[in-house]
Amino acid sequence: MVEQLQRYGVIKSSKVAEVMETIDRGLFVPQGGSPYFDSPMAIGYNATISAPHMHAACLELLEDHLQPGMRALDVGSGTGYLTACFALMVGPGGRAVGVEHIPELVASSAENIKKSAAAPQLNDGSLSIHIADGREGWPELAPYDCIHVGAAAPQIPEALIEQLKPGGRMVIPVGTIFQELKVVDKKLDGGVSIRDETSVRYVPLTSKDAQLHSN
Ligand code: SAH
Repeated sequence: MVEQLQRYGVIKSSKVAEVMETIDRGLFVPQGGSPYFDSPMAIGYNATISAPHMHAACLELLEDHLQPGMRALDVGSGTGYLTACFALMVGPGGRAVGVEHIPELVASSAENIKKSAAAPQLNDGSLSIHIADGREGWPELAPYDCIHVGAAAPQIPEALIEQLKPGGRMVIPVGTIFQELKVVDKKLDGGVSIRDETSVRYVPLTSKDAQLHSN
């Protein structure tokens, strides 16, 4: 899977390749799924694990903000796959924080991570997953060098911009039916620049009720 993403030019960084090799996606996809197939997969609760090429693209965009010792927030952490990748990149001296509003997914993501190469970081506290509304971010550990949002917001939540460190970067899908993956850079003077990276399709960043009753 990683070799194929490298061949297609999605993965250029050797660090991203190494991390995606080390965190086995097979531990995060529900039984019966095809973990190494480049497609999103249902994980219950009207949620999906993103396709490997989207995980790879986000890691590539965020790599400079996932250096050892840095702080990373993963909003809508779902299976915990990307949060585990973040933890490996920032290392035990950094912090990788997942926020997910479905308690069952938080519980199963912790089980997934316990089987993975990121397990020691769950034990030492440099990786944690919390049950909360990710539209509010996770202010306790702000500001973050890196914020990833794994669900599409109608607009960029103000709390997330606030919790981004000057010099930090956020990657967030924005839109309803048509969505753009936006790259939000906070400059050192606090100013913010936003650009569109690519068109995408994510599940919505919404309330728990709206998500569970969406079909
Ligand atoms: N990166 C995750 C993506 C999971 S799908 C993965 O690849 O496994 C998006 C996730 O966002 C879902 O698990 C959904 O429950 C969660 N979500 C949606 N709205 C949310 C909100 N307001 N707060 C927290 N999590 C939310």
